[in-house]
Amino acid sequence: MFGNGFMNAKGNLINGEWKPAADGAVLPVDDPATGERLTEIPASGERDVNDAVARARQSFASGVWSQVSPGDRSRVLWRLAGLIRERAAELAYVETRDSGKPIAESHEDIAGVADITEYFAGAATKLVGQSLPLPGGQMGIVLREPAGVVGAITPWNFPMYLAAWKAIPALACGNSVVLKPSSLATLSSLALGELALAAGVPAGVFNVICGTGAVAGEALAAHRDIDVLVFTGSTEVGRSVMAARAHSVRPIQVELGGKSPNVVFADADFEKAVAGAAFGIFYAQGENCNAGSRILVEQSIHDRFLDSLVAFTERIRVLPPTDERSQLGSLISSGQLERVSRYVDIGRAEGVRVVTGGYRLMDPPFDRGNFYAPTILADVTSDHRVFQEEIFGPVVTVTPFRDEEDAIRLANATEFGLAAGVWTANVERAMRCARRLDSGYVWINTFNTTPVEAPFGGVKSSGFGRDCGMQAIDNYTTWKTVAVALEPFSDWYASEAEGQQMRPVLAGSTEG
Ligand code: NAD
Repeated sequence: MFGNGFMNAKGNLINGEWKPAADGAVLPVDDPATGERLTEIPASGERDVNDAVARARQSFASGVWSQVSPGDRSRVLWRLAGLIRERAAELAYVETRDSGKPIAESHEDIAGVADITEYFAGAATKLVGQSLPLPGGQMGIVLREPAGVVGAITPWNFPMYLAAWKAIPALACGNSVVLKPSSLATLSSLALGELALAAGVPAGVFNVICGTGAVAGEALAAHRDIDVLVFTGSTEVGRSVMAARAHSVRPIQVELGGKSPNVVFADADFEKAVAGAAFGIFYAQGENCNAGSRILVEQSIHDRFLDSLVAFTERIRVLPPTDERSQLGSLISSGQLERVSRYVDIGRAEGVRVVTGGYRLMDPPFDRGNFYAPTILADVTSDHRVFQEEIFGPVVTVTPFRDEEDAIRLANATEFGLAAGVWTANVERAMRCARRLDSGYVWINTFNTTPVEAPFGGVKSSGFGRDCGMQAIDNYTTWKTVAVALEPFSDWYASEAEGQQMRPVLAGSTEG
């Protein structure tokens, strides 16, 4: 798109200025759908991360954002939301060129970023503490305070959306932020930083550092002056980030991988369930943490359902992602393409049936990109690797179940617990399943919706803590108790000096 200023990376955003990496190193930014070189970003090292964290700390300590009135912070975030809406078309284009996702999905993502910003702009003026009556004639005031300097590490699959999930509530609470987006899709996070600055977020409060996970990510995760680290990415990297944080004994929030079950009962609205199952996996090329990558179908409708799902899937329009009609774009990288192909081969070797897809698209206009046909694997059982492991591509497994008990057993039979779907016309069954699924999010007769109003996050190896909703505020604030004496201080030692029994200073427990 001519004149789209977000397409050219200007550098790291540190203290309101665009800076190259200290050693001048760069990483290429390529369009995964065409192989075209788009721009370069700094390959930041430890020095750059230290610089960004130091500037964030300075800005936090100065009070330029952390101590302004909530109303002032809120107004700046509302302005930011307005800028995002004004420039939504440019942002969507950048997102699609950088990540390979269909432009129609990028429009959704950017509208979502504006929604997130508006929601937390509103939340900024509604952060309240508590007051408590305390024993011993005291009153307790529990203050909700910004955590300090927040480090955020984000993945490439919903680049701007997930950067906003972390950075915007952190800013709303008065923190300073250092964001390290994925090196595979960085441009929209730089755009978010640029727009935040234009909206009036003071220099140093929102910094964006480009670079690889192994260097810049690790330096940020291990940094001792980060008060809270929030991470979205794979379970494997989540483990290493948690280990890197352990020495500083500071909080961390992690949103990790998933292998979400999408459970279809025989009494469900059949056509809607087929469409919902396809949408659950093929939206975002299946490069979606909550993708419904395991379809569980009641035995009595299994064969008919599988046939309909195959027919539905074969109608999905795989097109270059900048085409507004595209419904399935390019995978993020050749590495991801190889991973997906490898998993389908593992499935074949395990004896599962590839009923549609199972190959890379090689003909023009797909030959320079990383396109993989939407793929359905049947005859999959819970001990197959393709059932247990996150593939993170347009590949879904289909497994029959006998009854509700069997469905729950299969649904809960992986290490993950991010999301789940249930398709049924029976309200009691839907609610029973919702309670019994090991999952942070359950969709009933729908899938994939993640509005900012609702907390999102996992159980088991899918992580802990929540993005979105007012629950997100817990990541970015700390509680401080202030105990105020409402009566004159009673001297513990005075009574002893007079030879009388000591008077308790505190009514109730003196512990704590
Ligand atoms: P990833 O774990 O490879 O990378 C995530 C981020 O961590 C990137 O910014 C990367 O540069 C950085 N990183 C990599 N190695 C690091 C290290 N050693 N130390 C510090 N940082 C490091 O994940 P990805 O491939 O970008 O994204 C896909 C994964 O993210 C999938 O597993 C998916 O399920 C998960 N995901 C989860 C959610 C969620 O909300 N639970 C949302 C989206 C994606």
